[in-house]
Amino acid sequence: MELPTPKTLCFHLSLLILVASSSIIEASHSSSLSSSDAETISRFQHYLQINTSQPTPNYHQVADFLIFQAKSISLESQAIEFVQGKPFVLIQWLGTNPNLPSILLYSHTDVVPFEPEKWKYDPFSAHIDQNGNIYARGSQDMKCVGMQYLEAVRRLKASLFQPLRSIYLAFSPDEEIGGQDGAAKFVESEVFKSLNIGVVLDEGLASPEENYRIFYGERISRRIGITATGEPGHGSRLYDNSAAENLMKSLETIRRFRASQFDMIKAGLKKEGEVVSVNMVYSKAGTPSPTGFVMNVQPSKAEAGFDIRVPPTADIESLERRIADEWAPASRNMTFQFVRKGPVHDVFGNPLITKTNSSNPWWDLLKDAIQMAGGKLQQPEIFPASSDARFFRQLGLPVFGFSPMENTPILLHDHNEFLNQEVYLKGITMYESIIRAYASYVEFGGNKESKDEM
Ligand SMILES: [Zn+2]
Repeated sequence: MELPTPKTLCFHLSLLILVASSSIIEASHSSSLSSSDAETISRFQHYLQINTSQPTPNYHQVADFLIFQAKSISLESQAIEFVQGKPFVLIQWLGTNPNLPSILLYSHTDVVPFEPEKWKYDPFSAHIDQNGNIYARGSQDMKCVGMQYLEAVRRLKASLFQPLRSIYLAFSPDEEIGGQDGAAKFVESEVFKSLNIGVVLDEGLASPEENYRIFYGERISRRIGITATGEPGHGSRLYDNSAAENLMKSLETIRRFRASQFDMIKAGLKKEGEVVSVNMVYSKAGTPSPTGFVMNVQPSKAEAGFDIRVPPTADIESLERRIADEWAPASRNMTFQFVRKGPVHDVFGNPLITKTNSSNPWWDLLKDAIQMAGGKLQQPEIFPASSDARFFRQLGLPVFGFSPMENTPILLHDHNEFLNQEVYLKGITMYESIIRAYASYVEFGGNKESKDEM
């Protein structure tokens, strides 16, 4: 199918010069690699060297870079500005049967801010140390994955592989600030509808162990602010129902709930994504004075705010009742504001999870493809934070969160984020195997019986 006319397709000569000149920057660190692997690493470094940190990401330079990469492997691409100044790059590799649902290889181009003084190397130098560790903001989250998709496609094209299903690579802006101008606009667009997507791959997390982690859902984000009111009084007096006392009772109840959840992780009974997390993010009370607070007055109002993450399999209604009954009861002069961010179910009324059993052919294909490429998987998990995957799951699409980083410390959003070059290269092999399996898959939505007939 034809892609709509691009709104922005700028291509600068300066980029060519950048690409040509910087390929020698880190050549000395890549001496242990074959020349083709060294070139692969060099392309990853170029992507990392573009500063796309929020709040002022250099999106146009990234779009130019990605479009250059697509051209270099003879793929059509476009930069679509759903929101002006925030190009969304879409690269397509048409299948021989474009009527079959397609494969979406999704990543985001922005990265979180950094504190330069806490880094060993400039976070946009993509410096490689003597152990082959590539230091850069975005090396784990998630420029690695975006570039690995491209490298896997590059290898498949070189091997003359012909996809049956169409493959799309999407590079989205603004994931790190909620995705409203990125993934949210994309899923609402006519372009998205025209792609007829059957399955999505998005980001996961590094694994400190030798087995990769894989994610089939993510926790749902909720925020509450609770407010206690009470009679003001002299700082010396003991009396019932002061605002601070009412709030302290709630804080103790919430702390106990938090501990009960955390204990299950500590005991190894549950993983981080499988429990409800509650963390206090602000507290507010007191009567201001020129030097701070009036110290002999008990205030008439005290507030606290909490970030709550709920597994998609949990009973969110019962949690909401717990908040009303125990955390901010009206009987203690308390009120609360509950901010619901996003739905709990997909458009078909199902929980926002992707099946990881044989009823989902994409799961079997993925698992087998990783295994065939020499990778090992841990038990599938719920992603503890939020990602753009939720926008696709809300439409009922299967999404797997996978960032092939084994034996790697989890450093996303952390200082000195790095990824080892060998781990990166092995990840490309994983995607090569996955894309080959997905793009060759004949059936769609087949159940066990129909698969057995094949
Ligand atoms: Zn990310």
